[in-house]
Amino acid sequence: MQHILDAIMAGDTAADDFANLEIPDHYKAATVHKDEVDMFEGVASRDKDPRKSIHIEDVALPELGPGEAYVAVMASAINYNTVWTSIFEPVSTFGFLERYGRLSPLTKRHDLPYHVVGSDLAGVVLKTGDGVTKWKPGQEVVAHCLSVELESPDGHDDTMMDTEQRIWGFETNFGGLAHIALVKANQLLPKPDHLTWEEAASPGLVNATAYRQLVSKNGGNMKQGDNVLIWGASGGLGGFATQYALNGGANPICVVSNEEKAKIVRSMGAEHVINRSEENWKFWNEDNTRQNPKEWQRLGKKIRELTGGEDIDIVFEHPGRETFGASVYVTRKGGTITTCASTTGFMHEYDNRYLWMNLKRIVSSHFANYREAYEANRLIAQGKIHPTLSRTYKLEDVGQASLDVHHNLHQGKVGVLALAPEEGLGVRDTEMREKHLTEINRFRGI
Ligand code: NAP
Repeated sequence: MQHILDAIMAGDTAADDFANLEIPDHYKAATVHKDEVDMFEGVASRDKDPRKSIHIEDVALPELGPGEAYVAVMASAINYNTVWTSIFEPVSTFGFLERYGRLSPLTKRHDLPYHVVGSDLAGVVLKTGDGVTKWKPGQEVVAHCLSVELESPDGHDDTMMDTEQRIWGFETNFGGLAHIALVKANQLLPKPDHLTWEEAASPGLVNATAYRQLVSKNGGNMKQGDNVLIWGASGGLGGFATQYALNGGANPICVVSNEEKAKIVRSMGAEHVINRSEENWKFWNEDNTRQNPKEWQRLGKKIRELTGGEDIDIVFEHPGRETFGASVYVTRKGGTITTCASTTGFMHEYDNRYLWMNLKRIVSSHFANYREAYEANRLIAQGKIHPTLSRTYKLEDVGQASLDVHHNLHQGKVGVLALAPEEGLGVRDTEMREKHLTEINRFRGI
């Protein structure tokens, strides 16, 4: 891979020269193994250790299909989906690969005894398959993680509705935590020029998800002045939701679990911050079977204290079972609860009287379509939204990086260097970087 890295680092390699680079038939990747899916049987969720299940090894380069691209990955990032994959919860991802493999001889490539994980990347296009005209070898790119086939009519209004919609690197193989990734060309987006490789790789999945969930008409359709309750406001999704609320003229009410995280969201510009450890709400009883509406009311009272008596227009939900009842309660009449996840449990319970009598809406949201991912990346490229990268690991340490996220020890996003030999490389627009350096550093300090 050294000759590929040299060509990228040179910065002025011509497209034709990139097209002529020899691509190795094996590459280094972070994988989980099919014959190990039962390795954590009987182990409590928290004790399942990604360092044991994630392997760094050489794997065979898959054949390049029509409409696809090989990308030399300079950097990637950890998403919660890599935690799920590595602890084989709530299901093993090999079921996804088997189902995808049954679709066609080409998708059969994905059904392997190993799964190359990862749903983000920043890197350089090495080669494109038949029918690709927009992207060329040598172009610096990031990739969004929506994989679609678009053969049925369902996905042609909103590609997230495609019957064969999958998350690349989670429900498909050949993901971004590797030296080379296989993507569909319609996953590619231009790399923001003022960012390093690791900064550029880190927003991808969570940034586009937060954009759809909060800003897009397919999600919360947020408007100026809205009060937005954001759980985990300095986390992967929350760090971007907080920025979108501030950038769009809304009032984020940010919930975090310690003072360090409170400081981070304040430094982003949030004024209303709640430390949930100090509040110590007990939404559920000890054995997690019954909720206490008095605790929902205590949250509601706290929100009104901060907002001068106003309730929440939009809740940015993802913790799930633990918080969902409270989220439905504190939303104002006619307001919206947008949900994209259930980190603490997917069997939600809420008092439906508060929903229907007050005409509230629950809106489900999942990743983003290409347009939404493009808009979210464009805002990063314009320097209006910033990466929230706090720490960057080497590819060899993907297991440790995933463990940090699993145990909620991280802040913002956790990056991973793939081919990039060190942090800080890949900035092409130094003038713009200079302009935004204070903000980038403020967000990098997360
Ligand atoms: P993350 O970086 O770990 O952030 C989640 C935050 O939630 C944590 O930092 C924590 O913040 C907060 N939290 C955890 N437990 C909580 C609880 N019991 N009560 C209140 N807050 C709690 O993860 P992420 O990347 O933002 O992802 C969050 C979830 O969304 C994951 O389940 C992920 O799989 C899912 N997701 C879904 C999509 C989609 O497209 N559907 C996309 C991205 C992510 P504090 O400790 O500061 O409160």
